[in-house]
Amino acid sequence: MSDAQDETNPDAPGQDGGTTTTAPPPSWAGASLVDVKHAVAELKQPTYRADQFYRWVHKQQAEDFDAMGNLPRALRDQLAAQMPVRSTKIRHIHESDDQTTKLLLELADGETVECVLIPEGERRTACLSTQVGCGVGCVFCASGADGVIRNLSAGEIVEQLFWLQKIAGDRMTHVVIMGMGEPLHNTAALVAALRVIQSPAGVDLSARRITVSTSGPRRGFDEFLQAGLQVKLAISLHSVHEDQRKELVPRGGSGTIEELQGMAQRWFDATGRDVTYEYVLLGGINDSDGDARLLGRICGPHRNVNVIPMNPVPFAPDLRAPAPVRVQRFIDLVTREGGMVHARRQRGDDVAAACGQLRLSRTSKGR
Ligand code: SAH
Ligand code: SF4
Repeated sequence: MSDAQDETNPDAPGQDGGTTTTAPPPSWAGASLVDVKHAVAELKQPTYRADQFYRWVHKQQAEDFDAMGNLPRALRDQLAAQMPVRSTKIRHIHESDDQTTKLLLELADGETVECVLIPEGERRTACLSTQVGCGVGCVFCASGADGVIRNLSAGEIVEQLFWLQKIAGDRMTHVVIMGMGEPLHNTAALVAALRVIQSPAGVDLSARRITVSTSGPRRGFDEFLQAGLQVKLAISLHSVHEDQRKELVPRGGSGTIEELQGMAQRWFDATGRDVTYEYVLLGGINDSDGDARLLGRICGPHRNVNVIPMNPVPFAPDLRAPAPVRVQRFIDLVTREGGMVHARRQRGDDVAAACGQLRLSRTSKGR
């Protein structure tokens, strides 16, 4: 059961960040090979038909049943009666001057969601969303400005990757779960989607090329840890002070900074994968010398931090990135305290920033 559906969950967006509605529509794109084998067995067809079908959906990335010439028409019809190959379609493609491409996808119920292709040299990164809206309500974030509308299904998450690969005409080399939504408020669908994306019989993307970014809801984190995926984790910290973090990330779901540090450690212990903190830099708010020093100490030698100068949002005109010289000083101070800083450019091709702006462009297109 996902967080959003669990009424006893204190981190559930339904309780702390708006409403979530019924289960989103599934598609074969979100099904695992085991699911497909099960469905094919139920239809009294040989197992190799399941392998063929799975290959069509996940390797060839067929958009519907028509292309699947080596599958009997009757079987295709039976599978189609259960659910479509994909439940989303592209409504709008927006190419930026800086090479990023944003896709606005229309979901079966008319909702829309965005995903981004970020090319960088040999890298092609797909930034995927996990919810329509977000219930966490970070004060600087366009995705969460209207609360959460609903969780995405595993298929709706995987389909974003498929559409981006189609647009790129190539496979993605990296996936970041940094789009709209709090991924660990939709852990079950996220895990299912990531398993499909990692599946050797399908997309076959290695776990170390996948990063999940979270504000750190407790229950979702525990659930995610238990799933045993070996992906990288990014924890959105944004403040080194308890009370300030509660203001900036109102419904992040974790108690203390220490607790977030504990999550980072548990993830590292369980997976051996790097954990990165994310820190959106807000001029005059979380950019003091003292904050920088504290952040450096919190990071220590084992954690990277992505310092992301805030991209402006129209609904919070008072929040803005510090002047570049201030950003540089902040970074220097963190580094001096031993933190490893990964400075981000304040540009559209910045992964987190490009992804963090999703709701904005969506609203401007008038969903
Ligand atoms: N909900 C998850 C993942 C999506 S947000 C999370 O918060 O971690 C991905 C990143 O984009 C986060 O680190 C977020 O803080 C950042 N972001 C959101 N709005 C932004 C803005 N206006 N400028 C810069 N980064 C932003
Ligand atoms: Fe949600 Fe992440 Fe935006 Fe915060 S930054 S509102 S957690 S999408």
